[in-house]
Amino acid sequence: MQFSDFGLDSALMSTVEHLGFSEPTLIQQQAIPAAMAGHDLIASSKTGSGKTLAFIIPALQRLNKNRALSKRDPRVVILTPTRELAKQVFTQLRLFTANTQYKAVLILGGENFNDQVKVLEKEPEFIVATPGRLADHLKQGHFYLNGLELLILDEADRMLDLGFSKELSQINQAADHRKRQTLLFSATLDHAQVNDFAKELLKKPKRIAIEAGHTEHIDITKRFYLADNLTQKEALLQHFLATEKSQQVIIFTATRSDTERLAKILTEQDLNAAALSGELNQAQRNQIMDSFAKGQHKILVTTDLASRGLDLVNVSHVINFDMPKHTEEFVHRIGRTGRAGTKGDAISLVGPNDWLSFKNVEAFLQQTISFTKVDGIKVKFKGLKPKKPKAAKVNTDVSKVKTVADNKPRKVIKKTFLDIEDAGAMKIIKRKKALTADQIEESTKKEQD
Ligand code: AMP
Repeated sequence: MQFSDFGLDSALMSTVEHLGFSEPTLIQQQAIPAAMAGHDLIASSKTGSGKTLAFIIPALQRLNKNRALSKRDPRVVILTPTRELAKQVFTQLRLFTANTQYKAVLILGGENFNDQVKVLEKEPEFIVATPGRLADHLKQGHFYLNGLELLILDEADRMLDLGFSKELSQINQAADHRKRQTLLFSATLDHAQVNDFAKELLKKPKRIAIEAGHTEHIDITKRFYLADNLTQKEALLQHFLATEKSQQVIIFTATRSDTERLAKILTEQDLNAAALSGELNQAQRNQIMDSFAKGQHKILVTTDLASRGLDLVNVSHVINFDMPKHTEEFVHRIGRTGRAGTKGDAISLVGPNDWLSFKNVEAFLQQTISFTKVDGIKVKFKGLKPKKPKAAKVNTDVSKVKTVADNKPRKVIKKTFLDIEDAGAMKIIKRKKALTADQIEESTKKEQD
């Protein structure tokens, strides 16, 4: 199949050709015609599979073909969970809008609010944004969504995991009219909240599942190494950096302090490493991302801040110095390599503190993972044995056991389960209530780092 088979309008087709795209990827083959036919979509596809163009192309086609519903309101809003991903999408979008009459703007948390008000006053056709900040502008009446034609949610699962459901609902309700089309992309479709949300947002959506998150990415070779402790992880890292034939390398750590520490160690060895962590302000983060993208640094040490959105073909290796806490992050981290048909290596170090996360990744990937060894590095750690569940205490005191007719015990038990399961989430949600949407975005980012 070729892009020319989609019947794109001639201006858009020549941009596609000019940018050098000839064959659509699998997600594009399915999503572009379905979206062009006006359907709402709920789609999953692996990272790096070309899903950005799967929504940018039909969006432009719709704008070229249809008259705007309103002269002032944005026609397309694209929401992403992180600032980095938003920038990535924006960069691709700009390639397509460069020679058109359409204005595209980027609205991110952490950047100057008043500057964004001015940008919104210019009445752009496209807005790419993170949801917290966009909802703030919407609330303050800096733009309206009555004329919105396309609402695109990229990585909806992550947006919901980060607690943006309120902002997404607000944006959805402000653009609630018959002619609106909604395209929802998610790393996985097996996500209860995404499915509930899809019911609220989408009208008779077409479901497109190209490859589930756990399926093998054939361009990425995964290797796992056990390590006794931090010192051994550092020794393994040194070994890989010295022996692997690498171009650019991204190293993921669990904490900001590890990011700084590792980058310092590597810099001291003249290894040209930069550290990217949530402590930096947005301008500093942009600067580091840009210089890494330009190849000015060989190594980027980061937390999950960069696990999505970085699209660089020169990243030959991803090293998980620590395993990610959230299982899906594994797929996103390693997806920073093996982009657009290139080969990549993903190396993961597993120490005692990583064991639980490792087992979760193993279950998620649905495969038994074996470990590789490095000559000269003796590792004693062989994994942790699963703890035997303690036998439940049986209450033998009959006087305290309530009868079945008495409904109370059941209710109490239910609530206790809820309390345990939701305790963490509830705490975050309660705290967030007192904050503005933008502060939430800022604090969520910090929690993420
Ligand atoms: P994405 O999954 O949207 O982040 O895209 C991953 C990379 O694949 C980006 O560098 C795109 O420019 C590239 N890409 C997207 N579609 C195609 C295509 N049809 N042919 C070749 N490369 C593509």
